[in-house]
Amino acid sequence: MTAALHGKVAFVSGASSGIGAATARMLAEQGASVAIAARRTDRLLALRDELTANGADVHVIKLDVTGEQACRDAIASTVDTFGGLDILVNNAGVMLLGPVEGADITDWTRMIEVNVLGLMYLTHAALPHLLERKGTLVQISSVAARVVGKGAAVYNASKFAVNGFSEGVRHEVTERGVRVVVIEPGSVATELRDHITHAPSKAAIEERVSKIRQLQAEDIAESVRYAVTAPPHVSVNEILIRPTDQP
Ligand code: NDP
Repeated sequence: MTAALHGKVAFVSGASSGIGAATARMLAEQGASVAIAARRTDRLLALRDELTANGADVHVIKLDVTGEQACRDAIASTVDTFGGLDILVNNAGVMLLGPVEGADITDWTRMIEVNVLGLMYLTHAALPHLLERKGTLVQISSVAARVVGKGAAVYNASKFAVNGFSEGVRHEVTERGVRVVVIEPGSVATELRDHITHAPSKAAIEERVSKIRQLQAEDIAESVRYAVTAPPHVSVNEILIRPTDQP
């Protein structure tokens, strides 16, 4: 049987760990050629070796998504390498939790630049190609785009922005055959929390997640698989996926 994504080209940002790496693996398993982008090229090269050993075509791109031109160049080099683009997975993100009061503003800048602007830059650069091939745009948002708690105001704001932007894009492109999919994971066991700079917030979330069975990155990749392999007339707009133990 031919793999579901045979002949398709996918681009995954933040593919060096966690959900991005698992999604790149899934896309390669489904037969897609995959461009994997992030800043840590050692991780990307190891993933490339793993995927190519299984017969996949992989293009490694060193990318900091906070650069608009770098995002444009990354999409262009994917199209040059593979001849087009069918799937963009905007996954790169940071979650620097902490209260607004007394916050280190550089945490806010990073979250907005990576989670919001980086995702917008890649979307903007990819859109003409997705329109040409009637492709699929997948945005890795968060349950934080729907549920607001204490100590995550700017992360919440960044993911609300992702959802609002994505719904706006969906209105622009859906009648031209491009599907926009927003994935909203709850707690997933990845490196995301390792980067939190506000020690009490880091300790609090580590304590919370230690009590539950978290999702695995592969669970999220599976929800992406469901959306991107659906028949072309089916647009899975939004998937909210939480650990059973997460209220
Ligand atoms: P990881 O920390 O494992 O992965 C984050 C990825 O983003 C890494 O590959 C990292 O690559 C990349 N990244 C960070 N900053 C940049 C940058 N400036 N330029 C390019 N790439 C960057 O965490 P997850 O896999 O959990 O996170 C992936 C997405 O899932 C994020 O958008 C996150 O908000 C979202 N999410 C995660 C949840 C969770 O509980 N884990 C829950 C809900 C949503 P590198 O450092 O090599 O550049």
